Amino acid sequence: MKVLIVEDEKQVLNFVKKGFKEHGFCVDTAMDGREGFFLAAGENYDCIVLDIMLPNLDGYEMVQQLRNKEIKTPVIFLTAKDTVEDKVKGLELGGDDYLVKPFSFSELLARVKALTRRGKEERKTHYQAGNLVLDISKRVVKRGEKAISLTPTEFTLLQYLLKHKGEVVTRTMISENVWGYDFDSMTNVIDVHITNLRKKIDLEGEKPLIRTLRGVGYVLEDKK
Ligand code: CA
Repeated sequence: MKVLIVEDEKQVLNFVKKGFKEHGFCVDTAMDGREGFFLAAGENYDCIVLDIMLPNLDGYEMVQQLRNKEIKTPVIFLTAKDTVEDKVKGLELGGDDYLVKPFSFSELLARVKALTRRGKEERKTHYQAGNLVLDISKRVVKRGEKAISLTPTEFTLLQYLLKHKGEVVTRTMISENVWGYDFDSMTNVIDVHITNLRKKIDLEGEKPLIRTLRGVGYVLEDKK
């Protein structure tokens, strides 16, 4: 996990940096908003810990500029200002959470962990395995250059398999997560959909991606 800390108070910066390092994070730091912005725009961070009152560019402006550039890294504000308006303003501008100074590192860590977990679910725009790509927002599936037309159920099924690529997915898991319920009679329904999906994505000359584990379920392979 990689985190960016933007904070101009040296003491707070060192305290937070030390805490993250002790917990195995990669840490980059900046002491003013402009430098923080350039780092945030140029690197892939799992989370940004952002002070509000900063030289050159304040935390509000920084998050606003990042969101304008479609950079959606989760942001947690560190704020000495504890009025409701300030908190709301930060969230309205595109921040994800805030923590009022003084705070304990364990609380910051818990918030960052929650945020990055949530971020991974919500911010995912596509899934990939080998040369198969599923784009969630455009609802497009491609194997190499070839676009593949899927029914909505096949799309959701493939998305679920991709989300768990390399893992064994049982029929019960599929029926509960793709159909939303589980019946014994679902087995046939799932097998038929898997067969159809296979015909569409495992094109001639390409490496088959969906493997059946007899009596267990399926694995979507991710071999290069
Ligand atoms: Ca400050």
